[in-house]
Amino acid sequence: MARYTGADCRLCRREGAKLFLKGDRCYTEKCAIERRNYAPGEAGKKRIKESEYRNQLREKQKTKRIYGVLEKQFRHYYDMANRQKGVTGENLLRILESRLDNVVYRLGFAKSRAEARQQVRHGHITVNGRRVDIPSFRVKPGDLVAVAPKAADLLVIKSALISNERVQVPSWLEVDIEKLQGSVLALPQRDQIDLDIREQLIVELYSK
Ligand code: SF4
Repeated sequence: MARYTGADCRLCRREGAKLFLKGDRCYTEKCAIERRNYAPGEAGKKRIKESEYRNQLREKQKTKRIYGVLEKQFRHYYDMANRQKGVTGENLLRILESRLDNVVYRLGFAKSRAEARQQVRHGHITVNGRRVDIPSFRVKPGDLVAVAPKAADLLVIKSALISNERVQVPSWLEVDIEKLQGSVLALPQRDQIDLDIREQLIVELYSK
């Protein structure tokens, strides 16, 4: 499956915001946004002319990068959100949040969404007792997401649990750290998604 393989910190610098793509490093002073908060490349420090289109585009790019989704799939999610009842922007975020890689990250079993994606791909995660190795698999209320028994001793999961102690598990999920499993209580409402995203700008961009 196609994925971005460039430097993660460049993406944050491009968006001028912390996207928390690298786990522990994002919480230290080594974070590139703490040290060089300007866009990468030759023209990075130049003043950028604001425009409505630019703001819409940047908001879409930022959201794609946070969730690690490429354009084609992101557009597909938008079309799906647009067909659903309710507010399209909120529907879009709900769809993104329901991805299995995001849920594994939110439950604290991985330090970043990229690491969660890796764990899913390697078959370390089960949903309702069955192994699921598709990061884009979408969970639904009532699902039980767990670390597969054989993966429970993996160093990467243990270290994620330790470093994620500071991370608050969102209220639409319930985690049992002892059993290395978590339940999806409901899909999230907008106020349960703690991301600084102006989803309306994305809707405006795609509605043109
Ligand atoms: Fe972004 Fe994390 Fe890199 Fe900081 S350390 S720039 S938050 S990926």
